[in-house]
Amino acid sequence: MKRALFIDRDGTINVDCPYCSKPEDIKMYVDAIDLIKSYRKFGYLVIVITNQSGIGRKFFSEKELVEFNDSLNRCLRKFGASVDRFYYCPHLPEDKCECRKPNGDLVVKAVKDYDIDLTASIMVGDRDDIDGEMARRLGMHYKILTRKNNEKIIKYSECQ
Ligand SMILES: [Mg+2]
Ligand SMILES: [Zn+2]
Repeated sequence: MKRALFIDRDGTINVDCPYCSKPEDIKMYVDAIDLIKSYRKFGYLVIVITNQSGIGRKFFSEKELVEFNDSLNRCLRKFGASVDRFYYCPHLPEDKCECRKPNGDLVVKAVKDYDIDLTASIMVGDRDDIDGEMARRLGMHYKILTRKNNEKIIKYSECQ
């Protein structure tokens, strides 16, 4: 069985820009890059678990989301970090799906896809009511990063 770092995307890896979908808008937190690198060093899978209701709201397409994720991953790789897989919920809150955090279906899916030991894994996010709550429901370890807006960031232009 494998161990995994489950990690939120917006507000955790990249600075949250509501419903933004353009790679040029990417700004990455240096502490998140360091966190991903250190878990990787210990052999953890790195799996993003993210709510993307901008798809359900038709603010951007799934294709644009995939392009954004690919660009983010290229940018991370440039600095020695990378993500193995992005799982996203495209639904609206009113769809009442089981994959929108704090529901845990995306993690449950990843556990099956990669044979992950959940008790040896961790969730990292920036929202206790979303990321923390999901982790509590799944009975897994978690860590909430408190953002103060003075964090060191790397802009997309620096990834080229
Ligand atoms: Mg977040
Ligand atoms: Zn969903």
